[in-house]
Amino acid sequence: MLGTVLDIDGGFKREKRHSPIPQAACNLIWELKPTQMMRRKNNNKHYFTRMSTRKKVHAFVRVRPTDDFAHEVIRYGDDNKSIDIHLKKDTRRGVVNNQQTDWSFKLDGVLHDASQDLVYETVAKDVISQALDGYNGTIMCYGQTGAGKTYTMTGATENYKHRGILPRALQQVFRMIEERPTHAITVRVSYLEIYNESLFDLLSTLPYVGPSVTPMTIVENPQGVFIKGLSVHLTSQEEDAFSLLFEGETNRIIASHTMNKNSSRSHCIFTIYVEAHSRTLSDEKYITSKINLVDLAGSERLGKSGSEGRVLKEATYINKSLSFLEQAIIALGDQKRDHIPFRQCKLTHALKDSLGGNCNMVLVTNIYGDAAQLEETLSSLRFASRMKLVTTEPAINEKYDAERMVKNLEKELVLLKQELAIHDSLANRSLVNYDPMDEIQIAEINSQVRRYLEGTLDEIDIINLRQIQEVFNQFRVVLSQQEQEVECALRRKYTFIDKNDFAAISAVQKAGLMDVDGHLVGEPDGQGFGLGVAPFSAKPGKKAKSKKTFKDQLSSSARKEGASSPVGGKDLDVSISKTQLTPSSKDGDVKDMLLRDRETSNIEPPSSDSPKEELRPPRPSTPPSKPVAFEDFKNERGSEINRIFKENKSILNERRKRASETTQRINAIKREIDMTKEALNFQKSLREKQGEYENQGLMIIDEEEFLLILKLKDLKKQYRTEYQDLRDLRAEIQYCQHLVDQCRHRLLTEFDIWYNESFFIPEDMQVALKPGSSIRPGMIPVSRIMSLGEDDQDKFSQLQQTMLPEGPDSISFYNAKVKTEQKLS
Ligand code: ADP
Ligand code: MG
Repeated sequence: MLGTVLDIDGGFKREKRHSPIPQAACNLIWELKPTQMMRRKNNNKHYFTRMSTRKKVHAFVRVRPTDDFAHEVIRYGDDNKSIDIHLKKDTRRGVVNNQQTDWSFKLDGVLHDASQDLVYETVAKDVISQALDGYNGTIMCYGQTGAGKTYTMTGATENYKHRGILPRALQQVFRMIEERPTHAITVRVSYLEIYNESLFDLLSTLPYVGPSVTPMTIVENPQGVFIKGLSVHLTSQEEDAFSLLFEGETNRIIASHTMNKNSSRSHCIFTIYVEAHSRTLSDEKYITSKINLVDLAGSERLGKSGSEGRVLKEATYINKSLSFLEQAIIALGDQKRDHIPFRQCKLTHALKDSLGGNCNMVLVTNIYGDAAQLEETLSSLRFASRMKLVTTEPAINEKYDAERMVKNLEKELVLLKQELAIHDSLANRSLVNYDPMDEIQIAEINSQVRRYLEGTLDEIDIINLRQIQEVFNQFRVVLSQQEQEVECALRRKYTFIDKNDFAAISAVQKAGLMDVDGHLVGEPDGQGFGLGVAPFSAKPGKKAKSKKTFKDQLSSSARKEGASSPVGGKDLDVSISKTQLTPSSKDGDVKDMLLRDRETSNIEPPSSDSPKEELRPPRPSTPPSKPVAFEDFKNERGSEINRIFKENKSILNERRKRASETTQRINAIKREIDMTKEALNFQKSLREKQGEYENQGLMIIDEEEFLLILKLKDLKKQYRTEYQDLRDLRAEIQYCQHLVDQCRHRLLTEFDIWYNESFFIPEDMQVALKPGSSIRPGMIPVSRIMSLGEDDQDKFSQLQQTMLPEGPDSISFYNAKVKTEQKLS
């Protein structure tokens, strides 16, 4: 099994009994698709973006040369890509012996007796090469102390030939930079050591770095992980980079002496940061990459050297951080895992964006070739095979240079403006300005929009896109201003009660202004007659409600100008639906009638018994919409007629209810009569069958039949009474209906008169209509009043004197006369 078991003290230790790696893990064949190239057309230039392809981690094994190579135990495959380990059975364990003796590890290559040169070619060359194309790379050496990790990674610093991956990588980077004169490539390096869960900057000793005040921390941001406080050094040439490497190496050795550190117990991460900008200024894209070269601490297990005290502490840390690395590797290799435990220790946290992910990853597992180290060798090989399960998705780190982008856009803008000027001159539009609008231009558009809404401007000429956008913007401004105005006007006129404000509602109910169902008193169908409550919900801050009031305003002003309302909305909807009602729709609400009637606006002088004196409020500049004004009217002049109308309507409803109940009763009685008749017939036939008794010419019947006869008689009597009631009720209903219709008509006519008088008749004309003068408001159609000539005025006064004193009956006569005169003139 591949798993680890948790030690009692919280550390991890490997299982004693080794079992084979699952065959699936060993034989996993990774399909490496050739890198796909995607062609993207962009502004006549073609960019090539390398699409990411899943790729396995490459795991190699490097065997430390030894004179005592365990040929019996360690065998390489023919293709040099596998290692088989064979152990002889321990005979001391007895006959029944389940001890495992054979392991097989499939890898990407076994480096046996390989020169530093070959190791670099095999392990690192491609990774470094791709780093210059924008791919991150991580090369890691793993293995027990003394197996050759540092030799592989850094090499012998005193011998050029034996230099390791690190100096060679730096050399390759600078060589490749030389080969790419088309790009300005910068190289930076840093050297980090992690020892006992503490971070050390191996390059902090450089004179220009200066001592760090705060301890280094690992920071994550959208760009990746970086170590805050770690010095990063710009290197313009190979030599500088080598100096930095040697500085770091020296510090590593010095620190191990002065701080009494065991260098084999620390992890070292040398990072090369590459940034490549194209020398072509129009290219705003640039690439970055990061190469992590990691020399891990010795992987040998705790307890082997009998660690105590400080050494034990070090060993525990190392085991822990390598265990956490192993856990992260296992999680990365498991496709089903979506959480990778990177933050458990400094090592995995610092390498978070360098393990798996989008980078090219290579592992070199350093092992001894000696039989004595077999246990650790097995352990290291198992780590290598786990690493092979990890897949990465290498992708280019492409970024955009904001400064270059702005410059390029500015250039393009100038070009497009020139292009536009050419088009304008071809289309004879020489005066068009495409610059952003100033305040004066915006104010002019606002005024255009207002005039357009008022109807004084027929069209708003389209000039350019910017102007169209500003027109829409100003529409919004005007709309919201008008909404506010309408709302303010309503608030001045009405007291709004929030439907959800139960306290306010109960206060109104207590005051007797509203019944328990939320209807206003004296208004059976809840239409909000009078009482200063807005006819529609007017909850503050609700857009829908404001819109409605605004529509009212708009449609009323449109009507004033004699145009049909351009706004489809509540008004229009209502009037359309109501015109579909038949005129005999007796219960149609007065308000509906109002909406239905207002298009024709026939002002007929009705008779009014007691026109009420009223204090007229100052006339508004724009007349309110008829539904709004109607509410006012019902509170003022129309209050009496409205009251009578409602009374009649409630009587009518009550009678209708009674009629319906009576009909139901009649039907019930009829059913009972039928049943009784049937029972009686049955009794009769029974009697006839049994033989009839006669006594002195009188028929003898039994008691049951007698009772049925009595019942039938009684039922018939009831039937007749109820029927009579129903007939009376029907007559009453007809009469009441007539009254309701009359009242409704009167209410509407009175309202029309009041409305015109209040909002359309000039103030000076109203003097003649004042109570006390002989003309009642509404007696003359407004149009007529407005068009009276001097002669007419005379006739008018004569008529006033001759006709009106004869009482209300003269009104119809007067009406007819005026109408005829109007027709003739
Ligand atoms: P580690 O870093 O794994 O503890 P080192 O790299 O320090 O081990 O190696 C221990 C010693 O073995 C060093 O003296 C090193 O020069 C030598 N060594 C390791 N691997 C090789 C190799 N492949 N060829 C020659 N010498 C080696
Ligand atoms: Mg070492």
